[in-house]
Amino acid sequence: MTEPRLADLPLRDELRDQEPYGAPQLPVRTMLNVNETTYDVPPDVVDAIAKEVRAAAATLNRYPDREFTVLRQKLAAYLTGESGAELNADQIWAGNGSNEVMQHILQAFAGPGRSVMSFPPTYSMYPLYARGVYSDYIAGTRSADFTQEPDDVAAQIREDRPHVVILCSPNNPTGTSLSLDVVEAAYDAALESDTMVVVDEAYGEFRQPGTRSALTMLPGRPRLIVTRTMSKAFALAGGRLGYLAAAPAVTDALRLVRLPYHLSAITQAAATAALDHAETLMANVQRIKVQRDRLVSELNDMGLNPYPSDANFVLFGGLQDAHAAWQHLLDDGILIREAAITGHLRVTAGTEPETTDFLNSMRSYLNG
Ligand code: PMP
Repeated sequence: MTEPRLADLPLRDELRDQEPYGAPQLPVRTMLNVNETTYDVPPDVVDAIAKEVRAAAATLNRYPDREFTVLRQKLAAYLTGESGAELNADQIWAGNGSNEVMQHILQAFAGPGRSVMSFPPTYSMYPLYARGVYSDYIAGTRSADFTQEPDDVAAQIREDRPHVVILCSPNNPTGTSLSLDVVEAAYDAALESDTMVVVDEAYGEFRQPGTRSALTMLPGRPRLIVTRTMSKAFALAGGRLGYLAAAPAVTDALRLVRLPYHLSAITQAAATAALDHAETLMANVQRIKVQRDRLVSELNDMGLNPYPSDANFVLFGGLQDAHAAWQHLLDDGILIREAAITGHLRVTAGTEPETTDFLNSMRSYLNG
């Protein structure tokens, strides 16, 4: 019997001829393509995670705490300290990565016959989340320099009346964060059309000093949701823990769509242990920010056009042939990201030696 091919299966029509999402995972020396923290997990954090996971292992005959109570308490305390916004455990929701959290949001507030709007160039998963829940996707627009203005964002929401609007701040791949005026204008416009507003702050901890998180806007705004992840600042991409803060009624809505026991006891244990070591892990955030600012300054010195960044990566333009530059770097053992913007590439800020490795290779490419 011959194996059936994908094309022969009764697949949903909109999935035909689609490619799965995913950046290359290649065995290279310097991997700066998916905005991970490239520092190893510090040994004391490894020990703490191993200890918690070991304790959880003894309970695996039982289903995990469906309400992930301890984790929610720790996430609320962490966010309160990080942002200055007073948050309680009943305002927190979590999932296996902020990808799953976003899927829960769309399952609850978008769905068939409804629409989801975001503003490209932005995180390329947003249209795919919409497709996954059978919603229409609306691509909003930005200014030519990729910034967003309060009046313009509000006008687009008033015009299109999406059911969910996603603002990404700091934005992937451009790196810039939104002024809270934009979030406020979007929220006020969204209230008129029964729209939920999501601010994706996956890179929130890397924001420039003096800027505020949208978490501080939650009081009095029951239709605002702010998502975060432990994949970036906490160096826990492999642990798969994303979360959000919103009004308690929003977390009640998400309980309606989550699968039972969606957060395993192992995941809860690992994330809890990492949160207990937030201070150690945040020391690396400071080091990464130094390398991020160095990337902007040195790429600029090379005559390229880096964008200012509030994230752990830098988008840069000014390349005649971005693919050729990407290939040169790869041949040198350095993997970065091809952006969906002509002439541009995106590079994650790594450790100091990794960043040097990238900058040297970039210089050698330009001096050709
Ligand atoms: N939002 C943004 C803007 C991202 O860049 C990413 C990951 N690259 C995510 C969400 C998802 O991250 P995770 O599922 O690992 O939390």
